Amino acid sequence: MDSIQDHLNKLLDRSEITNQYLTILKEKVFPDPDVQAFLKENQDHLDKDAIMKSAINLYEFVNQKEKRQANEPSLIEGHDPKLVLFNNRIHVEYEPSTDEIKRQKLLQAKQRVKTVYISKEVNEATFEDLYVTPGKKEAVSKTLDFIDDYKATPQDYHQGLYIHGSFGVGKTYLMGAMAKSMSQSGYQVTLVHFPTLCSEIKAGFKDNSVNDRIQPFKETEILVLDDIGAESLSAWLRDEVLGVLLQHRMQHNLSTFFTSNLSMDQLEQEHFRTASGGDEPVKAARLMERVSYLAEEVQVTGENQRKK
Ligand code: ADP
Ligand code: MG
Repeated sequence: MDSIQDHLNKLLDRSEITNQYLTILKEKVFPDPDVQAFLKENQDHLDKDAIMKSAINLYEFVNQKEKRQANEPSLIEGHDPKLVLFNNRIHVEYEPSTDEIKRQKLLQAKQRVKTVYISKEVNEATFEDLYVTPGKKEAVSKTLDFIDDYKATPQDYHQGLYIHGSFGVGKTYLMGAMAKSMSQSGYQVTLVHFPTLCSEIKAGFKDNSVNDRIQPFKETEILVLDDIGAESLSAWLRDEVLGVLLQHRMQHNLSTFFTSNLSMDQLEQEHFRTASGGDEPVKAARLMERVSYLAEEVQVTGENQRKK
């Protein structure tokens, strides 16, 4: 049986290690096309001695590159090795791969779309998956116009849309696709289910947090108030919450969209007017002025596309 000392000696047999190392360098590291290209490109700065001194780094490069290509765990996840010349020596640096950059961009984009009480399906809506039926054509094309115009001149005011139509025709879905597209270009979009927001605000009424609660919706670059008209509205919600919110967005020229089962006229006559339980046509008309300043009315027709 080998003594510990013998074992160590074997491990430390420099010539054995050196031979294995040289074989790997010769057979695997130097023939690597990226290594070849790098050495050729930097031949004026590297002599044989410098290359041999940096060979361990070339080895690391080839080894890590193989791991990344085979999808095996690598030194720095999501990063590709890269050869660099520094002080006449070759070093390995790691930079995020194209996939990693894409993944991070998507993640950042997701963080810029803020969806509040919105289904997962709508959160994932994209124009690639969106099909256009004749009844949707106008709304889709106006939404696409908005996107193009906004991206072309983000400093200008761009009026949003008031998209109405019956349940399940795809209003919210279209807004989800718009939100994703805008956010991928770096704009901050908030899509909120308005009836749920109203219930939440009502629940928080006593702790004086109403202003805090509506602040993010006042300030977001692009806002979608989803399903307006389906909330149970009170005079207070109408005047102090919705009125204040829309007034702020109007004054600051911030793009605002609405979706609703009601037309603008129905919203005014059947919803805003009677919010207090009585009849307040003037208040309703004032609020409607803000809505129509912010958004152009467009109707969507078609079948209910909900699966359940
Ligand atoms: P609405 O807001 O008009 O009530 P939704 O936008 O919630 O309707 O649409 C209902 C469901 O129909 C969505 O969850 C989605 O699955 C599907 N859907 C709607 N519009 C489209 C579309 N243009 N392309 C693909 N699926 C759609
Ligand atoms: Mg909807």
